[in-house]
Amino acid sequence: MSESIVRALKCRECGHEYKIEPTHVCEFCFGPLEVVYDYDKLQGKFTRELIESRPQNMWRYKELLPIDGEPKVGANNGYTPLVKADRLAKALGVKELYIKNDSVCYPTLSFKDRVVSVALSKAVEFGFKTVACASTGNLAGSVAANAAAAGLESYVFIPEDLEQGKVLGAAIFGTNVIGIRGQYDDVNRLCSEVAGKYGWAFVNVNVRPFYAEGSKTLGYEMMEQLGWKAPKHVVVPMASGSLCTKVDKSIKEFIKLGLVEDNQTAVYGAQATGCSPISKSVKDGTDMIHPVKANTIAKSLAIGNPADGYYANQVMKESGGYAEDISDEEIITAMKLLAETEGIFAETAGGVTLGCAQKMIESGRIPRDESIVLCITGNGLKTQEAVLNEVNKPRIINASLKEFDVLAEADGVQ
Ligand SMILES: *Cc1c(COP(=O)(O)O)cnc(C)c1O
Ligand SMILES: [Zn+2]
Repeated sequence: MSESIVRALKCRECGHEYKIEPTHVCEFCFGPLEVVYDYDKLQGKFTRELIESRPQNMWRYKELLPIDGEPKVGANNGYTPLVKADRLAKALGVKELYIKNDSVCYPTLSFKDRVVSVALSKAVEFGFKTVACASTGNLAGSVAANAAAAGLESYVFIPEDLEQGKVLGAAIFGTNVIGIRGQYDDVNRLCSEVAGKYGWAFVNVNVRPFYAEGSKTLGYEMMEQLGWKAPKHVVVPMASGSLCTKVDKSIKEFIKLGLVEDNQTAVYGAQATGCSPISKSVKDGTDMIHPVKANTIAKSLAIGNPADGYYANQVMKESGGYAEDISDEEIITAMKLLAETEGIFAETAGGVTLGCAQKMIESGRIPRDESIVLCITGNGLKTQEAVLNEVNKPRIINASLKEFDVLAEADGVQ
C-alpha cells in the first residue's frame, strides 16, 4: 500500500475538475484549485498500525499527500513533538493543554518545511529545475534549504525589511535572495508575473494547491500524538489562512478514514492586530475580507490580502471556533510566557498564537476544562529583534569567586 489516492484538482468555487498539473486558478471562474482524493480506495487499508510502522517523518501519511510514490525532496522532514504543557496550562488556568512544537521542524525550524517538501517533490515530478517563492520569511529559508539539498536552483522573493535571521536563514543556502521594496502583497503580485514569464515552480503560486496540502501533516501528527484523538480546540496562526484550513481538512480526513472519532473540533485563528484582516472578519461576523496594509512585528504573518482568508473564515464559523488578534506588546509578553513556562523559544507568530489563545480563554470563547492544542509554527532565533531589548542582559563580572559571592548575596542566594 503506497499508492497515492489523488483524483484531481478541483475548483473550490464552481467544482470544475482539472488533471494534475502545475496550475492553481480555475479557467472558468478564477476560483482557487484544491487537490481532491478518492478516499474510498483507502478504506480499511490505511490503518493506525500501518502508519505507526513507518519512520517518524511527515511522509508516514503519504497516501494523503499529492505525490506519486516516494518523496523526491525532504525525505526526513516533519514530525515534531507534541508537548503536554502543564506549566503553561496552570498559568492560563486551563485543564488540558498541548503545544504542537513546529519551532523545531526539520530542517529550517518552521512548519514551512512541510509545505515545501510537498511542493518541491511535486515540482521535481513535473520536471522543473528552478523553484521559487514569495515569502514572509520562513518560506524563503525552507525553499532555499530544501532546494539546496535536492540540487535545485532557487529564487526567493521577500520584503526587503525582514528580520536578519530570516534573510541569513535563506542566504546561507546559496539561493538567490531578491528583496522587494514593499510589503508581502507587492512581492506576491510580482511573483505571479515572474511565474508566468519564467516558467519556474513557484511553490505558493503555480504549485500552490500541492504546497498547501503539506500543512495537513501538522494536523495528522497532532491527532496521532494525542493517542489517535482529535482535540476539542485547536488554535492556529494565520497569514494567508491556508494552515488554518488544512488543519481542519486533516481532521475531517482522519474522521472519514476511521482513524479518529469526531470530537467536534473547533478551529480558532490568531493574528496580530497590525495585520488582522481574517480575525477582523470573524469578529465582525461577516465573510468579507478587507485587505489591509500590514504593520506588526509578526512579519511572518503579515499578509494584508490573504489568499485563503475567506475559506479560513468559513472553517472557523462552521467548526464553532473564533478568531482573535493581539498587539505587538502582547506578542512579546506571550513569547516570554511560553519560554519561561515551557522552555520553548518561539518566534513572533508563536507569541500571536499563545496570546490570542489566552485572550479567547479569558473571554470564555475557549472553555477551560477541555483539551486545547496550540500550533507553534516558527523558531525565536529567527526573530531576535523582537525580544532583544525585552530580556535581562548578562551581568558581567571577572572570573573571581569573590565577585560572584557579591552578586549571589545581592540575589539573596544562601
Ligand atoms: C507562513 C506562516 C504561518 C501561516 O501560514 P498560512 O499562510 O496562514 O498558511 C504561520 N506561522 C509561521 C511561523 C509562518 O511562517
Ligand atoms: Zn471554477
